[in-house]
Amino acid sequence: VPLVLLDFLDGAVELYGDKPAIVGEERTLTYQQLNERVQQLSYGLTKLGIQKGDKVAYLAPNTEDMLEGFYGVFQVGAVMTSLNTRLKPEDYLFILNHSESQVLFVDQELYPLVEPVIDKLETVKHIIIHGAKEDQQAGVSYERWLSQFPTDEFKRVPLEENDLANILYTSGTTGNPKGVMLTHRSNYLHALSTQHHLRVSDQDTLLHVLPMFHVNGWGSPFYYTANGATQVMLRKIDPKTIFEKIEKNGVTVAHMAPTVLNMLLEYAKTENVPKRDNMRVVIAGSAPPPAFVTRVEEELGWEFIQVYGMTESSPLVTTSQIRSEQLSFDDAAKARLKAKTGYSMIGSKLKVVNEYGEKVAADGKSIGEIVVRSNGVMEGYWKNPDATSETIRDGWLHTGDMATVDEHGYMEIVDRKKDVIISGGENISSIEVEGVLYEHPAVLEAAVIAVPHEKWGEVPHAVVVLREGHQLTEEEVIQFARSKMAHFKAPKSVVFAEALPKTASGKIQKVQIRKEYWGEGA
Ligand code: ATP
Ligand code: MG
Repeated sequence: VPLVLLDFLDGAVELYGDKPAIVGEERTLTYQQLNERVQQLSYGLTKLGIQKGDKVAYLAPNTEDMLEGFYGVFQVGAVMTSLNTRLKPEDYLFILNHSESQVLFVDQELYPLVEPVIDKLETVKHIIIHGAKEDQQAGVSYERWLSQFPTDEFKRVPLEENDLANILYTSGTTGNPKGVMLTHRSNYLHALSTQHHLRVSDQDTLLHVLPMFHVNGWGSPFYYTANGATQVMLRKIDPKTIFEKIEKNGVTVAHMAPTVLNMLLEYAKTENVPKRDNMRVVIAGSAPPPAFVTRVEEELGWEFIQVYGMTESSPLVTTSQIRSEQLSFDDAAKARLKAKTGYSMIGSKLKVVNEYGEKVAADGKSIGEIVVRSNGVMEGYWKNPDATSETIRDGWLHTGDMATVDEHGYMEIVDRKKDVIISGGENISSIEVEGVLYEHPAVLEAAVIAVPHEKWGEVPHAVVVLREGHQLTEEEVIQFARSKMAHFKAPKSVVFAEALPKTASGKIQKVQIRKEYWGEGA
């Protein structure tokens, strides 16, 4: 039996038909109702001429209209491309043409982002607008369009497990986004492995904080659907709304970027925050310092799980959950482990290797690149065989992430290859310097990059965002860092900013910050 993602909906409809599957902003859908809308969507796509292998694009925030798209698109054998909601019109033009998308489903609020390039779209033949009450010149109303089609069982187009399910473009943290091709099989095995590690069950209610267009948010509906959990939609990231939804809907689990958790921690300090004991766990990526893990667990009262992955691997390949052999460790030691990148999830194999491909010593010090073999690894980059063969070599996905491994087998990302600062022949981890700056009570956010230096080649430079009502001088920041780390690692210069440039999934885009100092080629 081929591993096809539609299995996850089928199982849930059978066991949990009357249970709420989706809590949207305006309505709740049971699994049965979700399934009926999925059938309608598939009839509609067929009517538009969509066939096996065709690409269907979505540009939407986290809504029920987007979620039902997953299954409706697969039933006709088509491939989903979901677009980052924070791009520029020219980026949409590039991705829609590059992916050869035939239909574009777009949320009414986001339509203005693509409007300027509509005339230049080469393959998009139909535009269907989520949230539009009436048909418009730009495209038809999704609700009106959908309602014409029958709710009875659609005859599915047969799929093989190695058929593509989606093409997702990478975040563009380090350069131009690339189209990652993932199959039904890779997504399926990723879902099984992840639900096991996160212990997802039918008692869970997920709040979709991570954007669903991004790989981590994209993959999660499968394992929450499969388990008959309820999924609560969130259109916009806002701490007040997040806490309100957690209380009102009895949310038990959420995945979010540490930058968002940081906002929640700030909000929880100042406001009268609703109750939140129902939340059992929060799942985050992106190398937070141990003190941050402790704050989340103590101040918010949620278990913290760190995971690691990338679009190219479906994404998740590691977890930092404490294993039974470490249960007796004290709290500080446990927080240190949880703040690490972690160890391989089931179905993934990771190694940290030097430039000759040899494993580095498991001493918590020796640094190498993380390489991955996993059921979740992509087929390749869409229409970019050169980038594919550069990234997947001898069957191993080269992540570009530099890490150490400790005696417990926990990997810890030191930095991205591209972010390491090389100063007087020494490698400085930008993450390490940022970790020290975050220890200062006045620092809300910090990004450390290399800037050119006559004598040392490169030196660390910090861009710092201060907490509201706090003040700090450049000299104070430098002195603080020098008091905590080797002097050559401390920033040589500091500027203060109102905010840092971020990707839609909340990652700080150092490539944008670097441009100011190094020009476009940064
Ligand atoms: P691009 O490839 O376009 O530059 P990107 O690498 O940010 O963008 P994603 O695939 O969304 O695109 O992100 C994967 C990367 O995010 C990883 O390679 C790693 O650098 C970082 N990351 C993910 N999880 C963690 C984590 N737990 N700790 C540290 N870094 C992480
Ligand atoms: Mg990447």
